[in-house]
Amino acid sequence: MAKKTLIIGGGIGGLAAALASSRIGIEVELFERAVAVTEVGAGIQLGPNVVKILHDWGLKESLVGVAAYPERLQVRSAMTGDELGVLRLGSVTIQKYDAPYVTIHRADMHALLLAAVQKQAGVALNLDSEVVGFTQSQEGVTLAVFDGREAQGDVLVGADGGWSRVRQQLLNDGLLKPTGHLAYRAMVPQSSLPERLRSQQITAWLGPKLHVVQYPVRGGEWLNVVAIVHGHTHGDPQNWDHSANAMELQRTMAKTCAPLQDLIAAIEYWRLWALNIRLPMSGAHEHGQGRVALLGDAAHPMLPYLAQGAGMAIEDANCLAQVLGNAELDVSAALKDYAARRWQRNARVQVGALRNGHVFHARGPLRWGRDVAMKLLGERLLDLPWLYSGG
Ligand SMILES: Cc1cc2nc3c(=O)[nH]c(=O)nc-3n(C[C@H](O)[C@H](O)[C@H](O)COP(=O)(O)OP(=O)(O)OC[C@H]3O[C@@H](n4cnc5c(N)ncnc54)[C@H](O)[C@@H]3O)c2cc1C
Repeated sequence: MAKKTLIIGGGIGGLAAALASSRIGIEVELFERAVAVTEVGAGIQLGPNVVKILHDWGLKESLVGVAAYPERLQVRSAMTGDELGVLRLGSVTIQKYDAPYVTIHRADMHALLLAAVQKQAGVALNLDSEVVGFTQSQEGVTLAVFDGREAQGDVLVGADGGWSRVRQQLLNDGLLKPTGHLAYRAMVPQSSLPERLRSQQITAWLGPKLHVVQYPVRGGEWLNVVAIVHGHTHGDPQNWDHSANAMELQRTMAKTCAPLQDLIAAIEYWRLWALNIRLPMSGAHEHGQGRVALLGDAAHPMLPYLAQGAGMAIEDANCLAQVLGNAELDVSAALKDYAARRWQRNARVQVGALRNGHVFHARGPLRWGRDVAMKLLGERLLDLPWLYSGG
């Protein structure tokens, strides 16, 4: 069993790893380059596979305080406004998967994990601590912080996001590539919207070369909206947060149905992200080597079209704690077990998200076929037992 884990990155993945490991008695030291642990103003969806883990970690009540629990996910045509399919959530999801489907502000999710981590004994959080490299040997791992500090441990976890420096040093397999997809994101108080635009359900609007997803967060008081379009941004791709031009988005949406145009026009401030990814994982080696593990976006950056990137980071964290807590395995064997247990599921989610990109943005006959299939099969297409049952 590992005695001390060094975690690089204090995003959702790194905090989840810190919580899961400290809960089973592993000492944790976490290094985050930012001076404060914060998150961007946007929402995320968490499938029941993820919420079940959070409940197991004792976070059910904290979730209830800040999350929203939509009763249904509705798919609509962005062009006609017609309903194409519905997935019942709420009690139906709980009955089937033993946990609800949740939507939550990223900052709330982050704060909830951070508060739980801070209550744990044996966790040290180091902010303003950019890690610049590491070494590993038979005996352990050592990391170096930009200001000359060093730390030693038994395991090093690279939870440092899509542009992971840990991955670069470990695998040297290049950087993220642009997908040509851009995400406009906005959050607005529902009270600031006209009654007809307020909503407590998840709605996905599908159109040619675009889709829009909206859902409630903050106990339903705010609406989160993400519009995905095709295009490119300029400037440093590692700075993934750009200010957005609302008029440009409105022009891109000009041929969509009136209710969707209405919603887009009602929102004044948008942020713009360029979506960058890697090819789906090709083997267990991409989850780490020796005493070093990769977790979350560092291991498997993906398009957000299955809404499971943070979810897979949380599943990784749960699995990592299980293997590290196994007294019969030494650290390298435990990390091999972790990689073997995680990579195929993560690759499957990456592939599924890519496929959804093609299906969501389909044009011509493919779009027609999609709409017919969704109308005929509805819930049978939208429900994903292989995913929502957990890894
Ligand atoms: C538009 C969009 C919508 C999404 N929707 C969903 C959704 O609905 N559901 C879902 O589950 N996921 C969703 N995701 C995906 C999700 O946001 C990511 O998968 C998740 O945030 C990854 O978490 P992470 O901790 O692995 O990485 P990050 O969140 O990138 O965290 C990495 C952390 O490491 C720190 N760091 C980096 N380098 C260093 C270093 N050298 N030293 C120290 N610290 C370092 C960074 O500052 C950062 O805090 C969405 C993504 C996008 C873009």
